[in-house]
Amino acid sequence: MKLNERGLLIVISGPSGVGKSSVRKALFDMPGQDLVYSISMTTRKPRNGEKEGVDYYFVTKETFEEKIKNGEFLEWANFVGNYYGTPREKVEELLDEGMQVVLEIEVDGALQVRRQMKDAVFIFLVPPSKEALINRLKSRGTECADELQERIDKAEKEYLLAYKYDYIVVNDEVNNAADRIMAIIRAEHARTERTIHKYVELMEGK
Ligand code: 5GP
Repeated sequence: MKLNERGLLIVISGPSGVGKSSVRKALFDMPGQDLVYSISMTTRKPRNGEKEGVDYYFVTKETFEEKIKNGEFLEWANFVGNYYGTPREKVEELLDEGMQVVLEIEVDGALQVRRQMKDAVFIFLVPPSKEALINRLKSRGTECADELQERIDKAEKEYLLAYKYDYIVVNDEVNNAADRIMAIIRAEHARTERTIHKYVELMEGK
């Protein structure tokens, strides 16, 4: 029986290179999960193997800026020279339907969501060490030297914002991190402020 009929917004964030997308994919591979991923929009060029409408919606700078003007993003950020944003309408539609919606976004965007969605759950993914993060960014080989350095510099500033999140999860191993996130999601469903109304109604026989 579900005591919580409202949708749950789960924001997974953390520095670039921490492994957010690997952890998110592991979370979505877990048997029986019923989460929905909010596909972001970006002006970044697709990497090898990335698919339109699966990994991102890839758009031009002009299109993105038009959408900013029209207020079509729940949040957006300019990250190392490219725009990234969460289309607002889809997320609101899914939440209204009672779905559990996952955003995987960088820190600026997560803090914008924090200001607007008071009952969302904010998870900050951290690497087991600074070296692990740098090695991961380097081994990915998807950025040129300047861009890599920019991402490392940005990550150093982003660490300091961890205290603004509800949970900190260490990504020592992708499946372990995904397990921890699933445990958080389950616990959040039982949180008193999400369930009390329904519970009282039940007890009053409504
Ligand atoms: P990448 O270029 O490596 O795919 O993504 C760069 C950064 O942008 C990552 O930290 C990723 O989590 C973040 N990102 C992806 N989609 C969004 C989004 O919709 N909004 C924001 N603010 N960040 C995003």
